[in-house]
Amino acid sequence: MKSDSPYEPVIGLEVHAQLATRSKIFCGCSTTFGADPNSHACPVCLGLPGALPVLNREAVEFAIRLILAVGGQVSERSVFARKNYFYPDLPKGYQISQFDVPIGQGGSVEFVCDLHSAHKVQVGLIRIHLEEDAGKSLHNEDPADDSTLVDVNRCGVPLLEIVSKPEIRSPRDASLYLQQMHQILQYLGICTGNMEEGALRCDANVSIRPAGSTVLGTRTELKNMNSFRAVERALSVEIGRQTELVRDGQLIRQETMLWDEKSQTVHPMRSKEESSDYRYFPDPDLLPLQISSSWVDSVRASLPELPMARAARLAAQYGIPDYDASVLTETRELADYYEQTVAVFTDGKKASNWIMTEVLRILKEKSIGISSFPVRPEHLGQLLATVSDGTISGTAAKTVFEQMVVTGKSPKDIVTEGGFAQISDGTMLGHLVDRVLDENQDQVATYRSGNQRVLAFFVGQVMKNSKGKANPQRISELLKERLDRS
Ligand code: ADP
Ligand code: MG
Ligand code: ZN
Repeated sequence: MKSDSPYEPVIGLEVHAQLATRSKIFCGCSTTFGADPNSHACPVCLGLPGALPVLNREAVEFAIRLILAVGGQVSERSVFARKNYFYPDLPKGYQISQFDVPIGQGGSVEFVCDLHSAHKVQVGLIRIHLEEDAGKSLHNEDPADDSTLVDVNRCGVPLLEIVSKPEIRSPRDASLYLQQMHQILQYLGICTGNMEEGALRCDANVSIRPAGSTVLGTRTELKNMNSFRAVERALSVEIGRQTELVRDGQLIRQETMLWDEKSQTVHPMRSKEESSDYRYFPDPDLLPLQISSSWVDSVRASLPELPMARAARLAAQYGIPDYDASVLTETRELADYYEQTVAVFTDGKKASNWIMTEVLRILKEKSIGISSFPVRPEHLGQLLATVSDGTISGTAAKTVFEQMVVTGKSPKDIVTEGGFAQISDGTMLGHLVDRVLDENQDQVATYRSGNQRVLAFFVGQVMKNSKGKANPQRISELLKERLDRS
């Protein structure tokens, strides 16, 4: 998008993804979301004296999966460090993270720009590191009671922090980058991606500079955005704020800003710490993390096909437009559903039309995911085949489909039980056609006076009388025969 502003935004995102391991990163406590406050806690995640952390192997494996998926380098040796700060939801007084030597470096994320379709944007990554999450402070909403409660269940939940280079150039691209990251994490099966539950969070760093300049301006960091849309909105608002300041000849202060969803505004939270304020040092309780090349190789061999690659393959293999392919690959489960449908009914475009309209409409109405959809893909394939071979009409197919959704039965059973099979028998159709012509003499006259558009009306009437079972093409032929006769 071309803008009139003489300033260009520069954006870098820090994404935090909670890893979907069953237990926490350094202890055996459960990571389940929504448990009773403070019910998932032990001496290790509370940092009680004498407790020793033990690294969760699955968390490391999940990290390796993402690093490989984005084409980054897995460090043979990386180090856990203590990041020291005080906050009520961090009873240990430090967070175990990685600093100098992260588990992953480099790599990039590519996504399709939806404004100039077919244009791909690539954003490089600086680093990917493992760390533990902190607890949660629950501030009382009651103005008469300003107390704060602390829930430590989240302390020690494994996080991957993914830091992008400052290569994103618009709020829209920031949102698309995040959506792509979300999709990759889900395809890899390492993060639920549930933003409302905080499983995927993002801090956005942003600065502006004169268009065409290559030096970086002073940045601010935006926090507290809980949706893709919030990330995009918050960045637009902040870019607007910075632009006005600079136009006024004022300086941007490097600080952390909080997004307020209700008022759609940003407020300064605190001036930004320097990393030296955290007094990072290697955690003496944890050995450096060594990762063998055979482990990396076996993880590489187990990687699934990733969203962009799968979309390209679906488009080529089933002859569907890129747009369809990108909708169908939004989740791995939906793409599986499509491919299982096409395995039964091979017209890729017809299958994609049906899924993108009828199936997605019902998922939306019921607010469910494809994995809870009651119609099995083989059954959908069979339904489309019965339309294609003329057993039932397109109109009847909609009704049969509705019943499949309600009952979960096969289309064959529903067609037989409900008598949905299409009537193509000439004598029977002839009777239906004659009746409609008899009952609508005015329209017959209209047709014969040259207005052939009433043909559609007659076809509609016959379809209605046959409860959608008549073969519309045959009806049309029979009608024309009779109407054009005299
Ligand atoms: P810190 O760890 O102190 O937050 P980093 O240097 O690691 O800082 O950068 C964090 C994020 O900020 C990265 O995503 C990076 O791309 C982004 N970033 C750094 N400098 C700028 C800048 N001038 N404008 C916009 N984004 C920036
Ligand atoms: Mg930061
Ligand atoms: Zn614990």
